[in-house]
Amino acid sequence: MRHTHRFPQHGSNASPVHGIVPPHLLRHLARQTSSELSECADAAMHTLMITERWRGERQVLGSMAPWLTTPVGECRRTVFDAGHGQSLPGARVRGEGERPSGDAETDEAYDAAGATYEMYAQVFGRDSIDGRGMRLDSSVHFSRRFDNAFWNGTQMVYGDGDGILFQRFTRCVDVIGHELTHGVTQCEAGLAYRDQSGALNESLSDVFGSLVKQHALGQSAAEADWLIGAGLFTSRVRGTALRSMKAPGTAYDDPFLGHDPQPAHMRDFVPTFEDNGGVHINSGIPNHAFYLTAMAFGGPAWEKAGRIWYGTLCHRLTPLADFRAMAQATADEARIAFGEPESRVVREAWAEVGVEVALNAAARA
Ligand SMILES: [Zn+2]
Repeated sequence: MRHTHRFPQHGSNASPVHGIVPPHLLRHLARQTSSELSECADAAMHTLMITERWRGERQVLGSMAPWLTTPVGECRRTVFDAGHGQSLPGARVRGEGERPSGDAETDEAYDAAGATYEMYAQVFGRDSIDGRGMRLDSSVHFSRRFDNAFWNGTQMVYGDGDGILFQRFTRCVDVIGHELTHGVTQCEAGLAYRDQSGALNESLSDVFGSLVKQHALGQSAAEADWLIGAGLFTSRVRGTALRSMKAPGTAYDDPFLGHDPQPAHMRDFVPTFEDNGGVHINSGIPNHAFYLTAMAFGGPAWEKAGRIWYGTLCHRLTPLADFRAMAQATADEARIAFGEPESRVVREAWAEVGVEVALNAAARA
């Protein structure tokens, strides 16, 4: 297994801060003028501004990452309390093996980092984010009314949410798996965070974030909810989650947050300059291809579909890969890892979302 470090060096623009809540949703909320939700609009604007500021600092932090390694084969989690400030990491509140702190955010961040480490270690034999036992540091209670969670290149950062539309971000294990997977992608394929390669980057985080949740709950593909961020919205929001891999475009439809814009098929691909070329929007297409593949195989999604996507992430993608390259790579990985029938399942799933894969010479023979 290849484990080269691809953490960007200072000056690179390859890996901006990856917040779980997409900018289009926060902008929609920030534009609301209803006095009833003025606090939420302010919180959304504040979140957008902080995320923007972090984009610059992220590049400096990224080059420090290889220093954060621990002995191989060991999960080492540390949770810090930012105390509603913005300097990181904050005060250390819980380390590996220590008793629960009693603070929900602290203990949820600790547990979910553990669930993510375990899924990657047990299913794929991967030792942490970088494959070399990188420390899993998290900061909770970041800023005030902060409506996001993000991976900044060296650690996880969680806001408490505005408490009116968004609940605390540590509630969702798949959100935490999503964010930590941005670190894995950064170390492996190094997918550029724009246009189709950026949508693949987002999709891989949704795929493995959902697998962390499914693995922790012991669910089969048929039992899983295939939602990202279920439980993040309060009951005031008309919506169940941030995204749905099963039915992209149906996760929320709310007067304050807008309508889930995700397509499930290439015919509905959204060309846009916003959101780095729609990375959180068009990711619905590869997300749905993974869902269809996992459902066609049946059983736990990590066993076949997950293995194929993981092998592809680690060995078959270049930084500017597009959907067609991803489809071809997963079909090839399926054939090598399992056989031609599995490769056919993968090709059919991609065809269903409008991405056709050419049969290569080996498959036709
Ligand atoms: Zn993301």
